[in-house]
Amino acid sequence: MTAGIDTLWAPWRLGYVQGQDRGTPPEPVEPAAWRAGAVHDCFLCRAAAADPGDDRPLGVVARTPLSLVVTNRFPYSNGHLLVAPLDHRASLADLCPEQLLDLQTCLVRWCGVMQEAMHAHGFNIGLNVGAVAGAGLPGHLHWHIVPRWPGDVNFMPTVAGARVLPQSLDSLWEQLVAAGAVGTPPTTRPASAHGDAGPSR
Ligand SMILES: [Zn+2]
Repeated sequence: MTAGIDTLWAPWRLGYVQGQDRGTPPEPVEPAAWRAGAVHDCFLCRAAAADPGDDRPLGVVARTPLSLVVTNRFPYSNGHLLVAPLDHRASLADLCPEQLLDLQTCLVRWCGVMQEAMHAHGFNIGLNVGAVAGAGLPGHLHWHIVPRWPGDVNFMPTVAGARVLPQSLDSLWEQLVAAGAVGTPPTTRPASAHGDAGPSR
């Protein structure tokens, strides 16, 4: 055992890792029109192009004009979300400043939603760029948000079976969409280090 490294068990990911299931939605949703540059076998491009009425089967919990937030069908933990640009882009350098800002704003917002709705105590947030870095979908950038709770390293093997059920993901989708609709401030701006005394009189 390596000191200082937590192991977050996710045995239900084995089929995905072994290539038995690469993430095709159970009910294929055919968009009426694809975005320019979309890759048709990319599930993020498919979700980006789909009608919002199909958000539930696709696991899309939020859309902005530039980004989308989807549940990961092979989660490391309950609440594992992916935040991606609508455009099929493999490199950070291919994103414009507006996309980068919108993606970061989505990360902040959905961490806030999960803190409120799921009482997440912390998050692992990560981005794998390129297949060599472990990206499962190297052509379309996506940030992972993995919510964490005290002790989840220990109890997860015990409850693992409950996390692979499609109903669990569907229930998660319902919970997050409802929580997101209530609205969580995208960011809470801390008082400025230079003094933020509020509106002057
Ligand atoms: Zn794509």
